[in-house]
Parts: sequence; structure tokens; C-alpha cells
Amino acid sequence: MAWDFETDPEFQAKLDWMQSFVDEKVEPLGYLGIHPYDVKNERRNALVQPLQDEVKRQGLWACHLGPELGGQGYGQVKLGLMNEIIGGASFAPIVFGCQAPDTGNAEIIAHYGTPEQKEQYLQPLLDNRIVSAFSMTEPQGGSDPTAFVTRAEQDGNHWKINGEKWFSTNGKWAEFLIVMAVTDPDAPRHERMSMFIVPIDTPGVEIVRNVGVYGQPDGSESYVRYTDVRVPADHLLGERGGAFAISQTRLGGGRVHHAMRTVGNCKKLLDKMSRRAVSRTTRTGTLADYQGVQFDIADSYIELEQFKLFVLKTAWTIDKYQDYRRVRKDIAAIKALMPTVYANIAKRCIHIHGSLGVSNEMPFVGGLIGAMVMGIADGPTEVHKVTVAKQHLKQYRDVKDPVFPDYSLLNRRALALELYPDPIGDIQDAAEAVA
Ligand SMILES: Cc1cc2nc3c(=O)[nH]c(=O)nc-3n(C[C@H](O)[C@H](O)[C@H](O)COP(=O)(O)OP(=O)(O)OC[C@H]3O[C@@H](n4cnc5c(N)ncnc54)[C@H](O)[C@@H]3O)c2cc1C
Repeated sequence: MAWDFETDPEFQAKLDWMQSFVDEKVEPLGYLGIHPYDVKNERRNALVQPLQDEVKRQGLWACHLGPELGGQGYGQVKLGLMNEIIGGASFAPIVFGCQAPDTGNAEIIAHYGTPEQKEQYLQPLLDNRIVSAFSMTEPQGGSDPTAFVTRAEQDGNHWKINGEKWFSTNGKWAEFLIVMAVTDPDAPRHERMSMFIVPIDTPGVEIVRNVGVYGQPDGSESYVRYTDVRVPADHLLGERGGAFAISQTRLGGGRVHHAMRTVGNCKKLLDKMSRRAVSRTTRTGTLADYQGVQFDIADSYIELEQFKLFVLKTAWTIDKYQDYRRVRKDIAAIKALMPTVYANIAKRCIHIHGSLGVSNEMPFVGGLIGAMVMGIADGPTEVHKVTVAKQHLKQYRDVKDPVFPDYSLLNRRALALELYPDPIGDIQDAAEAVA
């Protein structure tokens, strides 16, 4: 019997250190007008690198990775607890070496890359000397990969890529992009595309513009055009036709990490709404004295605890099976749940702060947008719900010749009487009893 909701004291001490380090040193970086991913900005580097060194000294660097790649091999549960803290500050993922999309990109290069690819791209990425982008979504289709048309064709000992990609996050700072392109249009649906490592300075790579998510001061979602972009054959990542399978590995981890960081964001919002509720006075007391406000606090706490436990249980299952595909249903479920919990808590936080809550002096409306983003990025909620339903129904569909069982009360009672006959006849007739 091994259900345990406690953090061991040794790791709790690390989490306590993290919390004060993030609050005191890391969170303030988010207000200086520099971007965490702008690795060519000397001011950014002068501020960030000493903090990264401190994290390394504490043995907390790149905790999503195993020791063979310079991480700690802590597994997903510990990472989940860490991400709750990391999720509350915009610079924290970079300072702790576990920022998306580099985490996912590093994971797939580590998993599928050749020794040369690892040397050239993985190590600098793990050291945060460079950052990367993942270029999958296209202007005419994101949720449905069968709509992707970006092509890669063999051209001597090179691949030639043509097409357009949309929302390649951090393209403007990236040293390379991992591009998904159709190499085998006539192959089965999941084997049509391959992945390529494309250095940003390859001729033909053009950033058409950098789009911002609403409310962000600058855009970091790159709209990228690829025109006759030639990369050597050895820049194919993994097997030809393997992009779909590789991307599922990548996105599986990414979705869980988003959920973990969202727990952190929601905790901060609940903390702020609670402080406001007990300190804002009204005619008859404080906001916290009103039952309507208490409901807001209670609902937020209940939803957050449910979500957090579901995220940690999913993390625990990944640690157990070491296979994202086996945990597909729960990963999709927490991904689908995340935007609702986040939006509900952000909305209540805005409500309790009144005019201040909707103002641009508070980050709460950003929380609402963040919730919407969590319902779109890495696949929209609807698609994840379809996955949950399909996975859940699998066990029912897999039964040979499924039939609709008669589980009417009438029939249950008749069956019960077959199992436990009524020798003296004092139990009512099944039909009468149900009626
Ligand atoms: C902040 C942010 C960062 C991102 N970063 C990256 C990145 O780094 N790399 C990358 O490649 N992509 C990235 N994306 C893109 C993301 O993966 C896509 O936006 C997502 O897959 C949805 O595709 P779409 O925007 O084209 O929406 P569409 O496919 O046009 O869908 C529009 C809407 O239709 C609805 N919908 C879709 N399918 C169904 C369905 N089956 N049933 C019911 N409704 C449905 C959904 O609500 C969806 O939001 C990012 C997106 C955001 C918002």
C-alpha cells in the first residue's frame, strides 16, 4: 500500500529554498523589460547567468532531464512540485533550465538525435547558450496535422523545404527550428511527415513577422516562411516519416509541464485573492466576511486542489511507466481541465480586486488570456477531450461483440433472486418491488 501525499523533508528543504530564491531574486527580473529568451542580450545574460549558476550549485538545474544529460533525474512528481514554484515567475523556467519549448526540443534530440546532432545542438541548448523553436503549426491548420502542407523533398544529399509555419514560439531568438514537413504524401496518415533541424540562418528561412499574444508588449510567436530551404540529409531528426510519433513524445511531456506550472499560477492567484479578501474593508467588515466571497475562495481552493492532485497523480504514473503513451488519457485530461480551472480562478481573482483587478496594474486579465492560451497551445481542449473519451471507451469497445447489457433494476433484481433464491417466498415479486 503506497498512497502518500507527503514530501520528504530533504526535498521539502530544497523546495523551501526555491520558493524564497524565486520570490526574492527571480521574480523581479520579469519587470525589467527584458525577455527571458533573449540570449544575445548582454544585460539579460549578466543578470540571469549568476542565478543559473546558483541553481546548478543547489543541484536543481534542468530537473526534467536524467543525469546523463546534466539533469538530476528527479522524475515527474518532484518536477511537478518544483514547477509549482517555477510557474509563478516568468524568468524562473530559464533560471532553472527547464523552459519550453527548449525542454521538449532537447528531449527529442536526446532521444532521436545522432551523436553529431547532439554535439552541435543539444549541449548548447542544455547549457542555455542558445534557444530553439518548434515549427509545426501552419497558418491553414493547427489542430489537425493532416492539414499540414509544408513539404520537404530530397535534393541530392540535401532536403529542400518549402512552406509556412505559424506560432513557432521564440523563432526570433532561436538558433535553430525543429520543422515538421511532409516527406511522404502518399504514406498512411501518421507516417507522412518527418522532422528536420533547421538552423535559423539557413538561406530561405524568413520570419515574416512576430505575433504577440494579446497584452504582451512584444511578439514572440514567429510566423516563418521556408522558401527552398536546403538542409543536409543528416539534419533529418529521427526516422523518415516518424514526425508524428516523435511529436507525441515531445508534446506529452510539454503538456504535463504546462499543467504543473499552471498549478503554480493558480496558487499565486488564490494567494492574492485571499490577501485582498481579508484586507479590503467595506461598510460592515472585510470582503472575506461576505458569503459570496467565501464561495469564490472555497471554489478556487477546491478546484485547485483537485487539479493539483490530478496533475501529480499523472506525474506519478509517468514515473511508474516511463512512457508518455501509456499515460495518454490522463495527460489529455489534465490538459483539457487546465484552462477551465485557470480561467475560473483568474476570473474570481479579478472580481475580488474590483477595478484594480481589471486594470493594467494587475496581472489578472493576463491570467484569463493565459487560460485561453492553455486551451489552444499544444492542441485545443476539444481535441484532448476526444482523446480522453476514445481512451476511456477503448476498454468497452475492445470487448468482443459489445452488447447493451440489461442493467434495468428489474433485471438486476431477477438476477439477484437467481443468485440468492427466496425459499420462503416473503420477498416481493421482482416486478412489484421495482414498481
Ligand atoms: C501561445 C501559443 C504558443 C504556441 N506555440 C507553438 C509552437 O511553438 N509551435 C507550434 O508549432 N505551434 C504552436 N502553437 C500553435 C498551437 O499548437 C495551435 O494553435 C493549436 O494546435 C490549434 O491550432 P490552430 O490555432 O490552427 O486552431 P484551429 O485548428 O484553426 O482550431 C480553431 C479552434 O477550433 C476548435 N477545434 C479544433 N478542433 C476541434 C474539434 N475536433 N472539435 C471541436 N472544436 C475544435 C478549437 O477550439 C480551436 O481552438 C502555439 C499556440 C499558442 C496560442
